[in-house]
Amino acid sequence: MTTERWLFWHRRDLRLADNLGLAAAAAATPAVTGVFVLDPAILSAADMAPARVWFLLESLKELQQRWRDAGSRLLVLQGDPAVVLPQLAGAIGAGVVAWNRDVEPYGRERDRRVAAALQAAGRKVLVGWDQLLVAPEDLKTGGGDPYRVYGPFQRNWRAQVTRKQVHGDLELRPDPSGLLDLGTDLPEALPVLRDLPTAEALGKSFSGADLCPCRPGEAAAMEQLQGFCDGAVLLAYEPGRNFPAEPGTSGLSAALKFGTLSPRQAWWAAQAARELARSDEARESIQVWEQELAWREFYQQALFHFPELADGPYRPQWKLFPWDNNRAHFEAWCDGLTGMPIIDAAMRQLNESGWMHNRCRMIVASFLVKDLICDWRWGEQAFMQRLVDGDLAANNGGWQWSASSGMDPKPLRIFNPATQASKFDAEATYIRQWLPELRHVNSKDLISGEITPMERRGYPEPLISHKHQQARFKALYASLPKA
Ligand SMILES: Cc1cc2nc3c(=O)[nH]c(=O)nc-3n(C[C@H](O)[C@H](O)[C@H](O)COP(=O)(O)OP(=O)(O)OC[C@H]3O[C@@H](n4cnc5c(N)ncnc54)[C@H](O)[C@@H]3O)c2cc1C
Repeated sequence: MTTERWLFWHRRDLRLADNLGLAAAAAATPAVTGVFVLDPAILSAADMAPARVWFLLESLKELQQRWRDAGSRLLVLQGDPAVVLPQLAGAIGAGVVAWNRDVEPYGRERDRRVAAALQAAGRKVLVGWDQLLVAPEDLKTGGGDPYRVYGPFQRNWRAQVTRKQVHGDLELRPDPSGLLDLGTDLPEALPVLRDLPTAEALGKSFSGADLCPCRPGEAAAMEQLQGFCDGAVLLAYEPGRNFPAEPGTSGLSAALKFGTLSPRQAWWAAQAARELARSDEARESIQVWEQELAWREFYQQALFHFPELADGPYRPQWKLFPWDNNRAHFEAWCDGLTGMPIIDAAMRQLNESGWMHNRCRMIVASFLVKDLICDWRWGEQAFMQRLVDGDLAANNGGWQWSASSGMDPKPLRIFNPATQASKFDAEATYIRQWLPELRHVNSKDLISGEITPMERRGYPEPLISHKHQQARFKALYASLPKA
């Protein structure tokens, strides 16, 4: 152990517990200072959702307190990390800067620049994986290639996860060199923020916190995980996860995205629940939830190995698809005004709460691409502009899956919104919850979308006929060159 000062740079790991990079830093030296950089390139990007800014700021507030309670400090800087981190390291005499690695193209290029700037200034850099249960380099096919298909990926991933059992708990000791005094120790020129900015100051105020199932901060994430795994919800996840009116899923997506919860914590909680499970149905439910954690890793690993996924369709013939791209239709979809109740309820849930149930994400994505015949990348961006858990890998993966342009080799799939509503919202409870103006309409009509003009009371007529558009979409698809 050294007494050298280290900086630990938090990014999408806003927690102290089970943080592999932070644990490594704390094992090496008692003098660890935390840092987070508010990067204008991310915060002012066109697709930065107010809901994510809310989740980030609230989580940071709690993390700062945790660092203080542990006898050290989390500094928040504003600016280009490649400029402000070397400045900070110089100002406080930190010889080493550590962080956990990222899979996104922007993050990887930023990290390369930051590492180069730090090394040029004589600082050491320590990096490792934390946000995945299995590192991308460790998961390859028998032929040594990255996986392109989920099934075999999931089997190999599961085998490795159960073998490895990594833990990253740490003991953050009080910093023996004393707390850094922001007033005197740090030069005025450094962009260290004394107080976190407000969402309003960042131009991203969000009013849907009460409706959002995701709760910011490390303590809330752990509480939510325990509530989900210890109660009945996980044990009935299959088929409960399919019904958007029920609280049948964990609501942990933003916690996993921002790292207020680690994927290992999620995995261990599922294992603890398995030990106590008494029926095959319960064990099956736990397995299905673990498979969702595997989807999360599949998409992150895909983006790591194939960064070009971020730029467009994985299957090249989709670049030639003759989209209608009707702007008015797209805006009606965004605003929840298509005249198809299950679609509009889901989009209103997204607009009002910053979150949408997975079943509905699949239904609205299919509708935008295959009924409105809009380029899936429009939907991908609209989701990123709104989602509290908006994540490039998962969102791009979900959209390419829905559009059939991605890695998944399954044939074209088209969701019939009325059939989906009748299966998964049979009493139209979800529809009524998010479309209060239609509460008086009977369930059958809410599900089919066939509502009489008298009962519409200002609610729009359907924009399109599913039957007609489905046939058109198939014909357009058939005209594409074969792969
Ligand atoms: C078009 C589309 C876009 C999506 N965009 C995102 C996104 O931006 N961010 C995001 O986290 N998820 C995204 N998803 C996946 C999924 O809808 C959400 O992860 C899920 O609804 C979150 O709710 P939950 O936390 O209650 O999930 P649970 O059902 O409790 O699942 C547990 C965790 O597994 C992960 N997970 C579950 N399903 C998936 C999946 N299909 N792909 C990747 N990870 C998954 C999430 O981290 C989730 O929190 C998208 C799905 C589709 C179809």
